Amino acid sequence: MPKNADTPMMEQYHQIKKQYPDAFVFYRLGDFFELFEDDAILGAKLLELTLTSRNKNSKNPVPMAGIPHHAAQNYIDILVDQGYKVAIVEQMEDPAAAKGMVKRDVVQLVTPGTKLNGQGQDGKENNYLAALYPCPTGFSLSYLDLSTGELKVTSMTHLADALDELSSIEAKEVVLLRNDEQTTQLHLADQLGQRGMVVSHEELGEASATISYLINPLDASEQRLVTTLLLQYLFETQRRNLDHIVPAQAYERLAYLRFNQATRLNLDLVENARTKKKSGSLLGLIDQSKTAMGGRLLKQWLLRPLRTVDKINERLDLLTAFTEEFFVRGTIQDQLKSVYDLERLAARAAMGSMNARELVQLKRSLRSIPAMKTALEAADSPLLKQAGTSLDGLVDLADLIEAAIVDDPPISVREGDLIKDGYEPAIDQYRSVLKDNQDWLASFEKSERQATGISSLKVGYNKNFGYFLEVTKANIPKLAPDRYERRQTLTNAERFVTPELKEHESLIVEAQAKRTEREYQVFTTVRDQVKAEIKRLQQLAQQVARLDVLAALADVAEQRNYVRPTFYQNHAQINIRQGRHPVIESLLGPGEFVANDVIFDEKTNIQLITGPNMAGKSTYMRELALIVVMAQIGSFVPADQAQLPVFDQIFTRIGANDDLVNGQSTFMVEMAEANLALQEASAHSLILFDELGRGTATYDGMALAQAIIEYLDQHIHAKTLFSTHYHELTVLADRYADIENVHVGAEVDDQGKLHFLHQVQKGPADRSYGIHVAALAGLPQPLIQNATTILSDLEAGGSQTVPVSKPVMPTADNLAEEIPLFTFQEEQDASQQVLKQLDELKINELTPLEA
Ligand code: ADP
Repeated sequence: MPKNADTPMMEQYHQIKKQYPDAFVFYRLGDFFELFEDDAILGAKLLELTLTSRNKNSKNPVPMAGIPHHAAQNYIDILVDQGYKVAIVEQMEDPAAAKGMVKRDVVQLVTPGTKLNGQGQDGKENNYLAALYPCPTGFSLSYLDLSTGELKVTSMTHLADALDELSSIEAKEVVLLRNDEQTTQLHLADQLGQRGMVVSHEELGEASATISYLINPLDASEQRLVTTLLLQYLFETQRRNLDHIVPAQAYERLAYLRFNQATRLNLDLVENARTKKKSGSLLGLIDQSKTAMGGRLLKQWLLRPLRTVDKINERLDLLTAFTEEFFVRGTIQDQLKSVYDLERLAARAAMGSMNARELVQLKRSLRSIPAMKTALEAADSPLLKQAGTSLDGLVDLADLIEAAIVDDPPISVREGDLIKDGYEPAIDQYRSVLKDNQDWLASFEKSERQATGISSLKVGYNKNFGYFLEVTKANIPKLAPDRYERRQTLTNAERFVTPELKEHESLIVEAQAKRTEREYQVFTTVRDQVKAEIKRLQQLAQQVARLDVLAALADVAEQRNYVRPTFYQNHAQINIRQGRHPVIESLLGPGEFVANDVIFDEKTNIQLITGPNMAGKSTYMRELALIVVMAQIGSFVPADQAQLPVFDQIFTRIGANDDLVNGQSTFMVEMAEANLALQEASAHSLILFDELGRGTATYDGMALAQAIIEYLDQHIHAKTLFSTHYHELTVLADRYADIENVHVGAEVDDQGKLHFLHQVQKGPADRSYGIHVAALAGLPQPLIQNATTILSDLEAGGSQTVPVSKPVMPTADNLAEEIPLFTFQEEQDASQQVLKQLDELKINELTPLEA
């Protein structure tokens, strides 16, 4: 683009675009946001806009695409959801009053991590912006949800853990320091590629006073640094007040039960691994929270279950109280239905984007607190009483909004009708001036009708001409000449003004302008009052979220017959009676799920689980892990009784998660996941290995499986569930005291058909039933018969070579199931011929092509 041909406007555009080369620049031009040049070409495609051009007839027409400003938000969301940034350029002065070019500037940079709209349909999702900083001791990670103000920081030694933490919080955008040597060496930007974009700073500037305040609680210098980086990026992009951001909270990952992304998926913890949806996951099942705040909190709990028994019991105690005091719970949940997202309302107040409707939402929310407080304070449980006493319903704020803001205000805050009568004398006065003048107009119309004798004469108003008197063409002759001053001619009527009318018009216009201006001022004062109370609001939001989650978990416990878990001080035992897999149970009819005990006595560390495919081995394994997670978030669990140790980590190797994207085979992934457990697990961990070793040749696999079990037994001592179809491994239970065999029962009926009992029993399975399962799956009958024969040969001879199959003569029965391609005779002839040809072949003399 030849710059010398730039008009002053394009020159201004280029200056702005230069500062935001990687963002779409939305350039405000009157009622439109315009995209120019490459932005216009790409934007037109992504947003389905019409591509036009500026200066069409010049040599270098500028590609251009426009968006009406009132619809901009949707378009911004579409781009940002696809990982793009959008720089919003507004007119900084009134174009009518501007001398020369209207001043324009970027008022906000919207990025995936700072997007405020549309976080999940029900608002139950956080939207995190993160910053990652490699330091000598490992990595520091800081992240923030702009829409709620939550700011957290943590550190870890390994990059894998940092990446995992980022994926657990589903960070939308990660800020890195561009000129940092480590960052470059580790190719952090590439590693983070999947999170869309990496934003870089050349250098960290001085921390502003606000940033110093926000990082004040942090001790570790790396954590202060990474948080400064995050906040500097945030303030640069947002360019507005962000008083709702809560001072940074550091946490230790080690203080929580840890598991990686593979395990989160294997257990369908917060989303179903197959559908990527919340429904079909543990969260989907147990999230019966009434508010968005509650939903977000429960998800956070599930991603970071606790490890401190006292803290777990604090939650469990409150939950128990809720299960016992049904009335209190019911009252609270009724009230919660009218509580809006207090956290996000507080944030909007701070950012100055809260409108009057949201003020009313805030008032309604606050108005439901006193009833909750009263119900809690009247509870029998001291814990509930205490929760009630500590609730601060911000009645003062609710009263203020009630007094000032009308109950059903318009969305626009600039057009008046926001403030209640009687709240502000000036507004009342403007309103009365308006009313007087409206009255005057009515009486003026009446008197003019009388004076002219034209009964259809009327006073009207339009935007361009203001107030007028309208007389139909037919009646014009009745008007005395020069009575009125002509303003506008329509097809059927003429419009006139009089000096009196103009005088009253200017009174009306003035009163209206003053009124809307004053209303806006009063509205912002009220909004500022809300802003001043952000801390109290945020605290209330947290209390409400916690009550919401625990009351909801009490509902779930009651509906599904869960019990309160208890915890062993040491790590020696697991005692779950009649445990169930919560999600599978919820999908089956009543009583259809077969409950199972999971019992590890003091000397048991490893259970070897055998049984046919489809019997329920992985269900049993996952069930234990889910019960552990539920217990450690402070929920009741699906069992008749549950005593558990407190676990530090969960490792899983379940199913076939091919990492094909990264070019890893199933077996490689399997070994990598096994390795992670072997390297990282402690005696306080839980390990689930489902048919480890099946991804390679039989003997390889079996050898590895045995060696892994023995390694676990001798070096790790973690509680382990190891399912296997290598029957031979069951002898290990005889050799090692802490290995125990269990199997999932199955029965073969008189017809040879297999029935799954889903019942976990002591001891090894008597056989593997693979052929029966194949038969259930509908494989052709002759094939099944052949397999049965091969199996009995193998078992009889213990032969290590593959036995020669005896051709199975088709019977009338098994033939009927298939569609014959050849008659039996043809088939036999053909195969004889092939065999003969094969016999005659001289293999050593064949070329590869012939072979
Ligand atoms: P395996 O790991 O032994 O191949 P799964 O655990 O995958 O078997 O179970 C296969 C299916 O059997 C499950 O999808 C579920 O429908 C059913 N199932 C498993 N365990 C139970 C149970 N305890 N009660 C009822 N149905 C079960």
